[in-house]
Amino acid sequence: MPKSSRFIQKDPDVVLIGAGIMSATLGMLLKELDPSLTIEVFERLDVLAAESSDAWNNAGTGHSAFCELNYTPEREDGSVDITKAVKIAESFEVSKEFWAYLVEQNISPSPQTFINEIPHMSFVWGEKNVDYLKKRHDALDDHHLFKGMLYSEDPAQLNEWIPLVMEGRDPSEKVAATRMEIGTDVNFGALTRALFDHLRKMDGVTIRLAHDVRDLEQEEDGTWKITVKNWSTRKKRELKTRFIFIGAGGGSLPLLEKAAIPEGKGFGGFPVSGQWLVCNNQEVVERHEAKVYGKASVGSPPMSVPHLDTRMIDGKKALLFGPYAGFSTKFLKNGSFMDLPLSIKANNLLPMMAAGIHNIPLTKYLIDQVRQSPEDRLAALRDYFPEAKMDEWDLETAGQRVQVIKKDPEEGGILEFGTEVVCAADGSIAALLGASPGASTSVSIMLDLLKRCFPNQINSEAWQNKLKKMIPSYGQSLATNAELAYQTRAWTSEVLGLKISEPVL
Ligand SMILES: Cc1cc2nc3c(=O)[nH]c(=O)nc-3n(C[C@H](O)[C@H](O)[C@H](O)COP(=O)(O)OP(=O)(O)OC[C@H]3O[C@@H](n4cnc5c(N)ncnc54)[C@H](O)[C@@H]3O)c2cc1C
Repeated sequence: MPKSSRFIQKDPDVVLIGAGIMSATLGMLLKELDPSLTIEVFERLDVLAAESSDAWNNAGTGHSAFCELNYTPEREDGSVDITKAVKIAESFEVSKEFWAYLVEQNISPSPQTFINEIPHMSFVWGEKNVDYLKKRHDALDDHHLFKGMLYSEDPAQLNEWIPLVMEGRDPSEKVAATRMEIGTDVNFGALTRALFDHLRKMDGVTIRLAHDVRDLEQEEDGTWKITVKNWSTRKKRELKTRFIFIGAGGGSLPLLEKAAIPEGKGFGGFPVSGQWLVCNNQEVVERHEAKVYGKASVGSPPMSVPHLDTRMIDGKKALLFGPYAGFSTKFLKNGSFMDLPLSIKANNLLPMMAAGIHNIPLTKYLIDQVRQSPEDRLAALRDYFPEAKMDEWDLETAGQRVQVIKKDPEEGGILEFGTEVVCAADGSIAALLGASPGASTSVSIMLDLLKRCFPNQINSEAWQNKLKKMIPSYGQSLATNAELAYQTRAWTSEVLGLKISEPVL
């Protein structure tokens, strides 16, 4: 029997469902921590990273909370709360540490294939918004992770930074912007593919494309029986494993429901689709050099904050505007319209209904978005690029997000916009639900998952030492230790070929 078919029959230690950035990150961490582990990856599509992790399906923002106004809400007393922003900025630094380690080990190709520096800017208009942005800047400027953030209300300065945004704008309108030079654009698709390309060359790792995981069942001995359908042969296979990660993106909720663990009860999903306008005039593309985030409209979900983005995709500069949110009952871009109805079960019906009742402005917003005409979309683009011309932009479909709905003792059910890792008490299975801030914080999310599902191993000397090698700040706080944060940023910037920030001490 050839070696490969002998291996097929062996049950793996770990099964990763879905070939997106989350499974790639967890697979890489696990193999680095314990090279003897055998891992099998199942992906229903015949290519890697073709759902949310693909570059054209997400915004490619290395979320550091430099420009995303939804991470710095205004408190009732008018002050700006930066707690979430600090957490996200710290998580992104951790991701960069792991990526820098991979580059140093030659595991990942040239960093510029997946990460490039691009200024991150927030842009607002109107007295109230300008006042908020100024307060936000002042609050962030005190924190070492945000040192170097520039603020301006001067039209001449703004014109120099973002000419497309300023040209043709009413000069009497009050505008302001912040600018962080060390922002990044990340091609999560390219990174995911690079990680899987490396993983597939390692002993004990098998990646199976066009394999749809259909069922999960825990056996009495605690192991899991998995049923997988091979789309090429149309045959089903059963296998067993000790640990499963459901990293199926929008497909995670239905699989979590199949696993029927008590921790997964009461979760529901609310799908939000998206579209971009992609600029087809390279001369226009070349005139913009920033990711410019604005303020969300009333009732809109935080992830549909409009932004005019410079992207680097497969070596070519691109310009995108959006996302325009919408509603579709699909959980994946390549999913089925029956995804949402089939996900409604007795245990999540109430939370889903309650979340629906409490989010009527969101539902109204999504319906309005779906009904938008090309002229409406152009009008939204012109808020950020007043001289935009309709024929220079093409409408493309973005990735699908499934927001988490979960039980809430007071409200019955709440809609959440973050990510949620659901783990079984015995640590034998974990699922990742939700979408935002997502890929940028994938390393911190997976480190948290390791703590919960591999508690003994993670406390062992061997794993602790290896973790500190891969993530030098591991176990310390980049949010409170300014010197460590600066050293870490200086090292990752050098290895990843990014701008080095000014010392923050
Ligand atoms: C419009 C949009 C903009 C975004 N912008 C950003 C951004 O700027 N920055 C950022 O950090 N994040 C962003 N995100 C979020 C980010 O894209 C996601 O958090 C991340 O890609 C999720 O990765 P994943 O591996 O969990 O899922 P995915 O990349 O979706 O991968 C899941 C995989 O599982 C497979 N699968 C599903 N069901 C099964 C099954 N039954 N069997 C086998 N395989 C299965 C799917 O085919 C898919 O390939 C954005 C997302 C969207 C949609």
